[in-house]
Amino acid sequence: MSDFLQALKAKNPGEPEFIQAVTELYESIIPVLDKNTALRKHNILDRIVEPERLVTFRVTWTDDQGKVQVNRGYRIQMNSAIGPYKGGLRFHPSVNQGILKFLAFEQIFKNALTGLPMGGGKGGSDFDPKGKSDAEVMRFCQAFMAELYRHIGPDTDVPAGDIGVGGREIGYLFGMYKKLRNEWTGVLTGKGLGWGGSLIRPEATGYGNVFFAENMLETVGQTFKGKRCLVSGSGNVAQYTIEKLLQLGATPVTASDSSGYIYDEKGIDTKKLEFIMDLKNNRRGRIAEYADAFASAVFVPVDAKLDYNPLWNHKADCAFPSATQNEINGKDAQNLINNGIQLVSEGANMPSDLEAVNIFLSNNILYAPGKASNAGGVATSGLEMSQNSLRLYWTSEEVEARLKAIMRNIHAEALATSKKYGHERNYVVGANIAGFEKVANAMIAQGVV
Ligand code: NDP
Repeated sequence: MSDFLQALKAKNPGEPEFIQAVTELYESIIPVLDKNTALRKHNILDRIVEPERLVTFRVTWTDDQGKVQVNRGYRIQMNSAIGPYKGGLRFHPSVNQGILKFLAFEQIFKNALTGLPMGGGKGGSDFDPKGKSDAEVMRFCQAFMAELYRHIGPDTDVPAGDIGVGGREIGYLFGMYKKLRNEWTGVLTGKGLGWGGSLIRPEATGYGNVFFAENMLETVGQTFKGKRCLVSGSGNVAQYTIEKLLQLGATPVTASDSSGYIYDEKGIDTKKLEFIMDLKNNRRGRIAEYADAFASAVFVPVDAKLDYNPLWNHKADCAFPSATQNEINGKDAQNLINNGIQLVSEGANMPSDLEAVNIFLSNNILYAPGKASNAGGVATSGLEMSQNSLRLYWTSEEVEARLKAIMRNIHAEALATSKKYGHERNYVVGANIAGFEKVANAMIAQGVV
């Protein structure tokens, strides 16, 4: 292991996801570091892995039984070289500093790839919205914002949603920010339509991922028509991935949540997708109910004894992991390959572990890392910020056309960069180098700050 990675591990104990994300980037950019001596002179590597600011805070709120609850809140302002910090908030019991640091680190390069002026950040809490009443979620969001508001602002740091933070939570967070600051600004993205939100923002990550995958298929002269697709998750990203796949003539056959997955032999059609959206967004139920509603589907519960996820062990052409980090391990990757997978495009952040990534790359399938393929969400957040600044709204056709163009550019840039560095079609190398170079050049230009 290199001295750099050894020192990183020693300095960031107990943060395996952060080490994993940095390792993946570092291995891609070695040729750039060797070629460009300015990067070493300005010590860009050691600087870019250190958050510019990391805020941890206590969040206290009262539950419906009148009991006082305590959670931990975070905001990580990772890098502001090319724009205000930008990145989502995650509310999930697994949230800790290491997970948020990996997400904030990935966000730096993802945001750079969009071509929009956005730095990297991420935040959240170990609060679990599952099973909480609307009133409890509101009180938690208000308590969270009572501290966060002093660290963010439209020209400083603009948070958005992520796991456990959707339209409802953004509404409560925005309301509290507005009350505390007594100003109406575009300080959060993912806002509701009619109060600063952008059309297509809810759809953007899933749609953008499918657009990216469509670009990859185009390079081998194929389309989505008739392709069977595995999708994990059933939240925001998964839902709109399935919707766009259906529009392009593919057949999505799976969806999941943390209790298991459904496999629908006949495919998830528009009506069945409506059922998932109502189940998850309104009734907040479990995916198992899908199999009770549709005879063509089976529900497979999570089996903690297995060292692989059976969702990834079905015959399919394409896979769209859209739930969470490290949901595909080496065994899952090999199962996908054995079942004839041609394309894996990541909706989630870092859903494939390092072993899985290496298996995809060595088998020469079309593989897109999340920092390129799921950048459509933050890109459309960037478009929401522009609309807020201009104080106007674009039509959904206009926003979707811009999203499509941004995904096409990211794909073209990653592909061209992979070719330039002698790893043609390796989108990991292409995306990492293209994103890194933009940020590193800005850091060099701005001096030692
Ligand atoms: P949601 O909260 O809407 O949905 C998350 C889905 O993943 C749910 O089905 C959830 O199941 C499942 N899930 C979450 N954690 C786990 C876990 N530990 N094990 C198994 N299943 C899990 O989140 P999003 O759809 O917004 O986010 C999904 C992924 O996409 C994340 O990796 C996120 O970082 C990434 N992403 C999201 C963007 C966005 O715009 N929203 C932008 C770019 C990336 P359950 O309900 O049971 O917890």
